[in-house]
Amino acid sequence: MQSSIYNSEVYQMACTQFNRAANLLNMEERLRERVKVPKRCMAVSCPIELDNGKVVLYEGFRVQHHLAMGPTKGGLRFHPKVDLGEVAALAMWMSWKCALVGLPYGGAKGGIAVDPHSLSANELEHLARRYMQEMIPFVGPNTDVMAPDMGTNEQIMAWMMDTYSNHVGSSVPAIVTGKPLALGGSEGRREATGHGVAYIAKSYLEDLKIPVRQATAVIQGFGNVGSEAAVALDRFGVEVIAISDVTGGYFNSNGIDVKSAVRYAGKHRSLKGWRGGESITNEEILLISCDVLIPAALERVIDKTNAEKIQCRILAEAANGPTTNEADVLLARRDDVTTIPDIFCNSGGVIVSYFEWVQDLQSTFWSREEVLDRLHSILDRTREQVEAQKKALNCTRREAALSLGIHRVAEAKRLRGLFP
Ligand code: NAD
Repeated sequence: MQSSIYNSEVYQMACTQFNRAANLLNMEERLRERVKVPKRCMAVSCPIELDNGKVVLYEGFRVQHHLAMGPTKGGLRFHPKVDLGEVAALAMWMSWKCALVGLPYGGAKGGIAVDPHSLSANELEHLARRYMQEMIPFVGPNTDVMAPDMGTNEQIMAWMMDTYSNHVGSSVPAIVTGKPLALGGSEGRREATGHGVAYIAKSYLEDLKIPVRQATAVIQGFGNVGSEAAVALDRFGVEVIAISDVTGGYFNSNGIDVKSAVRYAGKHRSLKGWRGGESITNEEILLISCDVLIPAALERVIDKTNAEKIQCRILAEAANGPTTNEADVLLARRDDVTTIPDIFCNSGGVIVSYFEWVQDLQSTFWSREEVLDRLHSILDRTREQVEAQKKALNCTRREAALSLGIHRVAEAKRLRGLFP
C-alpha cells in the first residue's frame, strides 16, 4: 500500500528499511503491510496567545504505530521541520527499538512544527499544555506515554503531566516519562540516552582493541543526548575533540573541555560564542578523523555525499535516522567503519523511560546505581543478540537489529489477529 498521508523522505526511508528486513526474515506477505504502516495518527490544531496578545495556531501530530504489545511509547519533538511523515517514521523506529530491547510497548511519536527558541517560557508552557489537552482523548498511562525528544525537556513533561492530571483529578505521573525527579521522574533518566550511547561505543572500542583512554570522539548535536554522551565518554577517558549544535561547531585537537562546554550551553541555551575550540561547520564536523563519530541531532546527515569521506572507526548513531539508505549501502562496503544502528545505539533513553513508568505505576523508586545496572544488562544482552543475528543472517548490523525488532512485532500481530 502506498500511504498518502505519511509521504515524506524520512517515512520512505523507514519503509525501505522495513522492506529489507522483512525480506531477510522471509516475512509472509499477508503480515507485511500491517506490521509496517502506522495504526493511528492524530493531527490537532493548538492555538495559543503570545505575550504580545496575538493568537497563533500550531499544528501538532501524534502517531501510534502499533497496539499489539502494550501501550505506545515515544517522544515529543518541537522543531520547525516536523511533519506527519517524519513523526510516522520516528514512531516506526520506536516500535522496532522497543521490541529489540524487549520492552512491552508499541512505538509512538509526536511533534509540533515550531522553533521552541522563538517562544518565551510562558508561550512554550501554553503550547505544551494545549497539545496535551488536545491529545487527552488518545493518551493515558496504559494507552500512550510521551517523553522528551528534540526541542522538549523535563519542564515541558512537567507541564504536560500537570495538564493531564488536572483533567483526571489526581496525579498521574506515569502519563509521561523524562519528568523532573520531584514529580516521579527516575534517577538516571536525564543522562540515559547519552550514557547508553557512550557505554555501547566503549564496548565496541574494546572489541576493536582500540584503547579507550587513547580514543577520540566527535559529536554533532549538543542537546540532551549529545552533551550527556560527551560527559560519559569524558568520564570513560575518551577524548572528545569536536562538538557542535545548530549554531555551529568547535574543534580542539587537545580535547574539548566538556564540563566547560556543558556549563556554557546550559547558561546560554546554545554553544554560540563559546571559545573552547576552533570554529567549524556542521558539515565539516562529520569529516573529522576520529575513533567514534556520534551524530546526535537531525536525521539524514550522513548521505551519499559524505558516506565515503567520513573518517571514523565507529559510527554511533545517537540521533534517529542519521544515515540515509544510500549512505548505508556505501558504508556497508567499508570494512573500516563499524556502524552501531540508531535503534540499538540510542535505546538507553526508552529503556530508562520504561524503568520510570514501572516505578511510577508501583510508586516505588530505585537508586541511580540500580537504574544503570539494569540498563547495562539490557544493553549487553541486546548487543549479544544483534551480533548473533548479524552472523546468522550474514547481514549488516542495522539489518540485524531491525530484523530482531520487526520479527517480534510481527509475531505479536500474527498471534493476536487482524485488530491491534
Ligand atoms: P535536544 O533538543 O536536546 O538537542 C538537539 C541538539 O541538536 C541541539 O544541540 C541542537 O542545537 C542541535 N541541532 C539542531 N539542529 C541541528 C543542525 N541542523 N545541525 C547540528 N545540530 C543541530 O534533542 P535531543 O533530545 O538531544 O535529541 C537529539 C537526537 O537524539 C534526536 O534525533 C532524537 O530523536 C534522538 N533521541 C533522543 C532521545 C532522548 O531521550 N532525548 C532518545 C533517543 C533518541
